[in-house]
Amino acid sequence: MNSWTSLEEVRFKSVLSKSRLYMSRWIFYAIPFVAWQGHAQSLSFYAESYRYDETPLMLHGVLGEWTEHQSIQIDNNSGQEINISAHLHRQLPFIYFIDRQNNSGNEIELDIPNGYSYELKVIANLENEHPMVYNDKIGLDITYQSGATSYLEILTSVYFYTSSSLNTSKPEGYNFWGIGGYVRVVDSSSLPLKVYSNHTQHGVSSGWNEIIKKAINTWNNAGKSIGLKSDYFTLTSNSSEADLKIDWSGNNVPVGALGAARLTDTNPSRIIGISLLPPGSDNSLRTAEVLIQELGHILGLAHSTNPNDIMNGHAHPLHHEDLSKISLTSRDRQMLSWLYAQKHYIPIVSGRKTH
Ligand SMILES: [Zn+2]
Repeated sequence: MNSWTSLEEVRFKSVLSKSRLYMSRWIFYAIPFVAWQGHAQSLSFYAESYRYDETPLMLHGVLGEWTEHQSIQIDNNSGQEINISAHLHRQLPFIYFIDRQNNSGNEIELDIPNGYSYELKVIANLENEHPMVYNDKIGLDITYQSGATSYLEILTSVYFYTSSSLNTSKPEGYNFWGIGGYVRVVDSSSLPLKVYSNHTQHGVSSGWNEIIKKAINTWNNAGKSIGLKSDYFTLTSNSSEADLKIDWSGNNVPVGALGAARLTDTNPSRIIGISLLPPGSDNSLRTAEVLIQELGHILGLAHSTNPNDIMNGHAHPLHHEDLSKISLTSRDRQMLSWLYAQKHYIPIVSGRKTH
């Protein structure tokens, strides 16, 4: 009997909602437990004043990709509820706030009861422009329960650069799915891996095909960007010829997880498969991210500690309004580039029995 290991996605413990109404006001009711890596600025409200540390909010990232998000820690010690309406100045239309449902939008309103804190998350994405630093401010209109109002500005600096500086060193905080210190990668002679998905047996419309295509294309495009000649994955409708099966029955998904990928701990390492929760049991954009991550595991990538990376072990905060906005980070691509440049490796091969 082969031993095997699996890598699993952990459910993000924020309240999930399928609502797309990200401009609406929501009621604060719990302190977020998630430890964001983004540097937190602090903004504290007291009975007669507020304190703001005036450190500029720094966002930087690659043109065409989401930056890492930063957060502003807002503490309400004013003795009354406050409402904050945040808006962007004209220079910064590419900045977005992330709301409690993990949707992104250009404006946000929050109610913070007395004695509570809120972590306001900010992220940016700019396409088709030039590398540049943008400096401006985010305006906060504050209304107290008493009817008093106030206004303050948060200094913000956004720096976009191009991805041409991508190199082949291993990104910090990024792990590979190895055995005994050796990396595991799909041997080029096995490419492309034929992928069979049984989602149509689990009561979904053909619209679900888009999620699977998105996940496969994400890695195929990444492979091309690091000079790979063949695709990593190709779809097949014939389960008997599949090298990799994606099972949407929900079986073999550990409690509390959204999905799992499994390989045998042997040399070569055989693909056992990918297990996911049934289609429709979670936000479809997150499902796409989870599937991208499971496919990444099959390619030999393990988890990244950076919450912005697709390969972060927590299911993702949704910065996206649609599938097209889901992308690998430059760190994800850099890790793939590093992994597939290793001279000594244990090959990952088809899970199909050949005889
Ligand atoms: Zn994972």
